[in-house]
Parts: sequence; C-alpha cells; structure tokens
Amino acid sequence: MKRWNGWGDPSVTMDLPEQGESLLKDSLGEGTPQIDYERGKFLERMPKSRLPQHPLIMTDPEARLDHAHGQSLPDWIGLRTGMLNRFPDGVAFPSNAGEVRSLVDLAEKQKISLIPYGGGTSVLGHLTVPEEKQPVLSLSLKRLNRIVDLDEKSLLATFEAGIMGPDLEAHLQARGFTLGHYPQSFEYSSLGGWIATRSSGQYSTRYGRIDQQFQGGTVIAPRGELVMRPYPASAAGPDLRHLVLGSEGRLGVITEATMKISPLASGEEDHIFGLFFPSWEQGVEGVRNLFAAGIPLLTVRLSNARETSINLVFSGHERATAFLKRYLPLRGVPADEGCMCLLGFRGPHRLVSAARKEVGTILKEKNAVPLGKAMGEAWKKHRFLMPYLRNTLWNMGYAVETVETAVTWNRVVQTVDAMERAMAESLADMGEPTLTFSHLSSPYPTGTNLYTTALFRIASDPEETLERWKRFKEAVSSAIVTCGGTISHQHGVGIDHKPWITAEKGRAGMDVLAAACASLDPGGRMNPGKLL
Ligand SMILES: Cc1cc2nc3c(=O)[nH]c(=O)nc-3n(C[C@H](O)[C@H](O)[C@H](O)COP(=O)(O)OP(=O)(O)OC[C@H]3O[C@@H](n4cnc5c(N)ncnc54)[C@H](O)[C@@H]3O)c2cc1C
Repeated sequence: MKRWNGWGDPSVTMDLPEQGESLLKDSLGEGTPQIDYERGKFLERMPKSRLPQHPLIMTDPEARLDHAHGQSLPDWIGLRTGMLNRFPDGVAFPSNAGEVRSLVDLAEKQKISLIPYGGGTSVLGHLTVPEEKQPVLSLSLKRLNRIVDLDEKSLLATFEAGIMGPDLEAHLQARGFTLGHYPQSFEYSSLGGWIATRSSGQYSTRYGRIDQQFQGGTVIAPRGELVMRPYPASAAGPDLRHLVLGSEGRLGVITEATMKISPLASGEEDHIFGLFFPSWEQGVEGVRNLFAAGIPLLTVRLSNARETSINLVFSGHERATAFLKRYLPLRGVPADEGCMCLLGFRGPHRLVSAARKEVGTILKEKNAVPLGKAMGEAWKKHRFLMPYLRNTLWNMGYAVETVETAVTWNRVVQTVDAMERAMAESLADMGEPTLTFSHLSSPYPTGTNLYTTALFRIASDPEETLERWKRFKEAVSSAIVTCGGTISHQHGVGIDHKPWITAEKGRAGMDVLAAACASLDPGGRMNPGKLL
C-alpha cells in the first residue's frame, strides 16, 4: 500500500516532537495548513483516454492518476491542491520483454509517447506527462520483477529491471550476497529507476554507486535492442553502459540488468559510531583525511552545525541533547557549533576495532569527540522513516525540498555557504523565511556530495507555493553552477534541472546526447521533454 498523495505506507507516520514544532514556528512563522484536494475529484475530471484498446493497456482513472507524477515538490503541490492536470492516457503492465517490445512497437506505429515507470520516486519531474497532441502511455515495469541469474563465481546477478529494492535484496541475501544499494527511497524504488537516474545510496561508500555496480543489460528501444555484456573490462571503444546510466527513459526501456554483487561474510556486523567536530571546516577536513588514508568505511554522514541542532531537536531526545550541550563544550566543541558525524563500518569485530582505532588517531588532529554507538543505532532505525516527516510537515503547513550536488574538496565550504545563502535570500523579498541545513554523505577521493534541505511555508494560493519553489530552485541551482558543482550528484535531471544541464555538458555534449537518443528513438517517443 502506498499513500496516493504523499510518501510511503499510509499506516506509518513520523511525529514531530513539541520542541520541533516550536523551532519551526520560531524560524518560519506559524504553519499554514491547507485542506487537501480529494482523490475522487481527480477521478471525476480525468479526461477521456486517447489510446486505442489494447489487452496490455489499462485506461481506468485510478491507474492513470497514480502514474501521473513522482515525488517532486511540484508533484506534491499538484496532488495536494488539485493543480495536477496532466495524466497519461493509460498504463501498461508488461510482464516480460516480449510484451515490452510489442508496446514499444505499438507506440512507434501509432505515435504514442511512452514514459517508463519504475517505482515513481523521482524527485525531479521525470514522470511528468508532457503536453502533447499524441497520447501518452505510462509503462510500468513492476511485473518485470524476477531474478534471472546468479553467477556466484563471477559475483554477478541479473534481474529484470522492474524489481524493487527490498525484493532484490531478499533474493541476494537468501544466497549470502548483497548489492548494498540503499537510497533513502529503497523500499519504493526499482533497479531500472536507479540505473536510469544514476542513483547513489547510503552504503555506496563501501559498495559503489549504481554506475559502478551496473555491468550490463538490455534496453528495448524503438529502433531495436541495445545489449551490453558484462565484460570485466574492455578497450573496445566508448562504454555504452554509460549512455544508459542516467538516460531517464529517453533511450528506451531497460528490461534487464546485470549487477556486481558482494558476498556477505558470516561474522560481519555493522557498527555505526557517532562523533562531534568543533566546526564544519574541521569535519570536512577530517572526512577527507579518512578517505585519503583509505579507511574502509560503510557509510559517512557529516552534518553542518545547523543540521546537527535541528536533528537533535527533531529527535525528541531531550535528556540526551541536554547532556551533549553540557558535555561537548567541556571537550572543546563550542555550543551550537558542533557538527555531528556518523561513521559506519561493516566487518568482523576485530577489523572494525582496528579501523576505528586508526580513525581515532586521524581525527584526534581535528579535535573530534567520539560518542559511541547510540546515535548511529538511532540513525539506522530511522533511516527509511525520515521521509515520512514530509507528510507531517506538509499537514502542518510547511513544504520540504532537498537539493544536492558534488564538488571537489577545495570547494566544499564555499559551496554549502553559497547554497544556503541563495536559498535563504530567494524568498526574502516575498517576506518568507526559509530554514536550511546541509550534510555530506558520499565522499570520494577527489571531492564529495553535498545535500541541503530547505523548509518554507506553503501558501493558501497553490500558485504562490509553486512560485516560492521556483524562486528557491532557480536561486540554489544557479549558486551550485557558479560554485562549479554538478547540477545533480544522485537525483538526475528530469525537467526540474533541465535549465542547468547545458552549463554542465556544454553545447557539443548536449548534441552528442541528443544524437544518441535520436539514433535509438528517431521518432522521439521515449519520455519526451526530460533530460534534454
Ligand atoms: C524520499 C526519497 C528519498 C530519496 N533518496 C534517494 C537517495 O538516497 N539516493 C538517490 O539516488 N535517489 C534518491 N531519491 C530519488 C529516487 O528515489 C531515485 O531517483 C530513484 O533512482 C528512482 O527510481 P524509481 O524506480 O522510483 O524510478 P521512477 O521515479 O519511476 O523513474 C525515474 C526515471 O527513470 C526512468 N526509468 C525508470 N525505470 C526505467 C526502466 N526500466 N527503463 C528506462 N527508464 C526507466 C523513468 O522514465 C524516469 O525518467 C529519493 C526520492 C525520495 C522520494
């Protein structure tokens, strides 16, 4: 079961403690909750489908509404206020590659636009239905959910691409393996969606991003089939897998993917430890030094001072927070400036202890204060629950948006400053404050991702809420590009990042991408309007 106009399982809620509510009121003003638009009204006004009758295509309003959006903030505004007004003409649920082929052929023959749909968790408008004269078909991959092959010797597993995160891991873990790919949307996103958006997960520091795990597969395109074999290495020209990674449904439908997997050795345990740095600058340097020293980390999350204090307030652990406020200044961490860091390890106890000892030596130089496992355990427990806070906050009258990038180490501090400043200033002339906070969680040898969250009030007029979002998105995306960051480290391009993609790839680069799409999809049927 999924919430039709919010995030996740309808039986799960994430409450905000009283101090959290006060913090929001003090920072943003009284929330402005609005009455939700009713599902029935969407169904009543669903336009007539323009698709021909076909045994694989459903045209009922329920399915069309549920496939008309993802999870971006404009998607939320559209659903919650009734502004959503474009719907696919139908939804198909093929159950094998042959059926995908016949639907792609039908689209080509009858001039139908096709939107591949994985789990529907896109946060950038990847699933937005274009305003087209021709009919639009959403192609759900959810029935392509089988494991095809597990080659234990080569550490390769092949799956149909519609398989969802939990099912994929269940298959592998039953045989003693893992993919180790855990985006925060893990429970509701699919393998094909991860590949098509170049996803990164909470344990990617250990297991690699999806681009490092994707070894081969099949794409069914209007022009034919692209088959990529899982060679361990190849010098036979450019690597076509990198065209498919991040292709956002524009090239064709990924039907099958072969992934690099890792054995789960017995006796391995996860240990996630918390520590505090006296400042963001010292924290960033500390994480960089750990990376340079080759410490085998499972996961890292370094919050800046504002995210640290907000997390502590939102956690509701008043006594623990009060203790930290007394204890940390005694250890040289100034009140309200401390930056919380979680460091995770996976392995046998003996190796984890050795790595931890090494970490202690490296981070002593940065005046880090170690705090044991409690914070790490709390993070682990809530790591897929945090998005549920979006439902709670919206009901209180606050919108949440996240923005992410990756920059080289020498630009980290200035980029976070610029992102947070741009966000804060973007709504200032409308008299609306914003609350922003940031962390880094995917370090690389040459740099790191940066992830900033912003909260602001929703308005009684949905157009006004959308305008607030547009100003905010424009300001922060421009700041990212000016600072030399990528427009996306993990969420992709969709429609929301399109205005900034050319600045990143250059005109010639965009022409190459357009030519690649046109060669597999000459009629422009595949997910028109996204990426390019
Ligand atoms: C609460 C929340 C937390 C998130 N956390 C993370 C995170 O930690 N890391 C991260 O990387 N992302 C995260 N995301 C973003 C999102 O989950 C990812 O972009 C994810 O990879 C999308 O997968 P999906 O199956 O839901 O794809 P969809 O949203 O259904 O589709 C996304 C795009 O991929 C295309 N596509 C999907 N399947 C196929 C296929 N088989 N063939 C061709 N094209 C296809 C679609 O056409 C579309 O363009 C988060 C989103 C939410 C809402």
